[in-house]
Amino acid sequence: MEEILTNFCTDPALLEIARKVQAGERLDFEDGMRLFRSPDLLGVGYLADIVRRRKHGDRVYFVVNRHINHTNICVNGCAFCAFSKEEGDPAGYVLSLDEIVARARDSWGLGISEVHIVGGLHPKLDLDYYLEMLTRLRAAVPGVIVQALTAVEVDYLARRHGLSLEEVLVELRAAGLDALPGGGAEVFAPRVRELICPKKISGERWLAVHETAHRLGLCTNATMLYGHVETLAERVHHLLQLRELQDRTGGFQTFIPLAFHPRHTRLEAEVPFRTTGYDDLKTLAVARLLLDNFDHIKAFWIMIGPKLAQISLSFGVNDFDGTVVEERITHAAGADTGQVLHRAELLRLIRAAGRTPVERDTLYNVVREDFRH
Ligand code: SF4
Repeated sequence: MEEILTNFCTDPALLEIARKVQAGERLDFEDGMRLFRSPDLLGVGYLADIVRRRKHGDRVYFVVNRHINHTNICVNGCAFCAFSKEEGDPAGYVLSLDEIVARARDSWGLGISEVHIVGGLHPKLDLDYYLEMLTRLRAAVPGVIVQALTAVEVDYLARRHGLSLEEVLVELRAAGLDALPGGGAEVFAPRVRELICPKKISGERWLAVHETAHRLGLCTNATMLYGHVETLAERVHHLLQLRELQDRTGGFQTFIPLAFHPRHTRLEAEVPFRTTGYDDLKTLAVARLLLDNFDHIKAFWIMIGPKLAQISLSFGVNDFDGTVVEERITHAAGADTGQVLHRAELLRLIRAAGRTPVERDTLYNVVREDFRH
């Protein structure tokens, strides 16, 4: 252990954490704070990479998928969101079901295994709209996994129709919902939510949606929007709340830290800058170390760029997300990344990092891993 510290960790505060990581022991809140506060980014990354290697060896996953943001009209108007518009705003839009199905079918021809659908809380889109969307997608792109509706959207439908979370999720699943994405978690601390998304569901409710989904056998993902008004302690608490639910259900597949993009948001004056590369890598690495019961840590290249996502493969990350094709939410807030990464580019980035690419579906079934031919 002394050798690890001397060779890879320049911060003595990491010594006890390095011992725990080596022994496979769980880290606690104070460890999380030490990791975030440590100036030794490479040391923290080294420790995260021990865990990543132990779980996955050289394998790095990606998915050939298609994102669809079906509406930007939203009653919540979160301060951090540049995507949403009020009803009646000329920049607002709703995709018809025909358009949604056509987009999914177009991408189906390119070999997608996942359609990822999230949007705003549109006051006129009711449960029937979503049930028909799912039913038509299941018929139009059979075999493609539909990962759709954040916990915020599921809660909205439940409240709108006076149904329980379970009742809504059972109906959605019967119509074709396969998995829930991880959006809407932001940072669970009530202080933060009051500042950045006062109308959004509480952290407790977000966790309740995912717990219900897990109980019904739906896999889900988890996220944390970081780099705005939250403290490091609030980040660590957020991660530990996710870990606690995962201990009880085991239903989370992947954790995805989401880097805040301030442009065109109402937080822009208060938080004028994007996250730094240092913070992005540190957050991914700390997540890998604290979330010992999550199999996968994903770098969302749309938010941090493909090059930093590639570097993050040495900081605990084992998932490169996917082809995406079209993304409106982060781009509305000034993201300068492209809209699509083709399979060949994903393969090149992963291989150039010395790793073995594995194409997966939403549920981490292997779609393809022999790419020599
Ligand atoms: S983050 Fe989601 S809930 Fe909040 S305003 Fe944007 S679309 Fe609506």
